[in-house]
Amino acid sequence: MDPSRPPIRTPRRGSALAATALLAAVAVTAAGSSPTDPATAAPGGPAAGRRLGTDPRPRADGPSGGGACAPAPGAGTQMSEGLPTAPGYVRGTGTVRALTLAIDFPDAPGRGTARQRYAEFFPRVRQWFEAASYGRLDYRPALPLKRWLRMPRPFRSYGIERGSTFEPGYRRLLRDLARAAAAARPAVDFRPYDLVNVLVTPNAGPPATDTVLSVTFSGNPDAPSAGGVPLANVSFIYGRQTGPSAFRVLSHENGHVFGLPDLYTDAGGGSLAGHWDLMSEDWGPGNDVMAWHKWKLGWLARRQVRCVTGPGARTERLTPLNAHAPSGGVRMVFVPVNRHSGYAVEVRRREGNDESVCRPGVLLSWVDTSVDTGGGPVTVVDSTPHSGGCSRHPNVDAELSDAAFTPGQAFTDRRHGIRIEVPAEGGSEGKNKGGSYRVRVVRR
Ligand SMILES: [Zn+2]
Repeated sequence: MDPSRPPIRTPRRGSALAATALLAAVAVTAAGSSPTDPATAAPGGPAAGRRLGTDPRPRADGPSGGGACAPAPGAGTQMSEGLPTAPGYVRGTGTVRALTLAIDFPDAPGRGTARQRYAEFFPRVRQWFEAASYGRLDYRPALPLKRWLRMPRPFRSYGIERGSTFEPGYRRLLRDLARAAAAARPAVDFRPYDLVNVLVTPNAGPPATDTVLSVTFSGNPDAPSAGGVPLANVSFIYGRQTGPSAFRVLSHENGHVFGLPDLYTDAGGGSLAGHWDLMSEDWGPGNDVMAWHKWKLGWLARRQVRCVTGPGARTERLTPLNAHAPSGGVRMVFVPVNRHSGYAVEVRRREGNDESVCRPGVLLSWVDTSVDTGGGPVTVVDSTPHSGGCSRHPNVDAELSDAAFTPGQAFTDRRHGIRIEVPAEGGSEGKNKGGSYRVRVVRR
């Protein structure tokens, strides 16, 4: 039973197992996809009343769902790449207010102060979202209680371990949290907030270097309430990750609050998307999310996405995904293949949130909205299979780190009659001054 669809985080992925085999899977997946479901999953639950994280407003300038380049979620998916994102999640644009509570337990009293715990994540998380969204998401964190909020029961009594479902441990914990927050002085008012971050004292549970417990319960209409506000979108952060951008575990968990699925696989056999997306790898050097996720969240305007549907050849010039020019340039080409799948094309280089790109170029990925979170909904196409990659950072999937295509390279999907080329250009690097690349799509 799992009504709350917890995205379960796997621990750090130690090996880049099967990265090359997964390239083959791209073609296989592309060839094998034959969506049969006529319906769209609607996991958001009832829309009545004010609910934490509910977005009753239509998006003004993002994908609205439907259409060749906004494929719907596959039937039965809990959390998919499809559009539109179900209404129970928090909107990805505009002002979003994040209530943050630092909690501890009788058997795990808080170490350091609540403010210090908060400072592990803020303002970095806010800045990460600001850069990733080109300023479209105004993420406002708050720590109304400046001290640890003590839970009434020992941590071990909740039975929380990696992969724990909402029932019964997290439901009990949220009930206790709501009571403690109401009894605090000042009492916590949940009403002004869109989501809740629960920062657990790092000494509760195992160190993050052993097991990652952090988890998010999002779009959950059955959650307990706090002061009349259902706790529908809550991220729990445990332990303490390592490295200079360890705050990203919270950006990742909040990604689920906005409706993004996990890109790493539950099977634990490495990532299909490598270090190209925060929802794939949130450890190691800083990274961004892929263009598809920016489209899904409303961070790319319609004019920044080119949808290539008809037969013939078409050339587009792509601005680097991270270039901070809010209105400037086309950031993604999407080549739909069937009702639920297609190729996303984007340009990535070391800039902004992407701290470790070692081979800039045109990144090509297969997006399948019929694949659920944790099942591998996005697969990066490796332009240099079996190369071993160009990154030697720990916690980076090395093989896929040099996946981007460079001028003169091309990808062919013969079954669907699609060829995606990065034409050679004048100049030694084959790209213009702004770091943009031309992309030529030929469809049968
Ligand atoms: Zn996750």
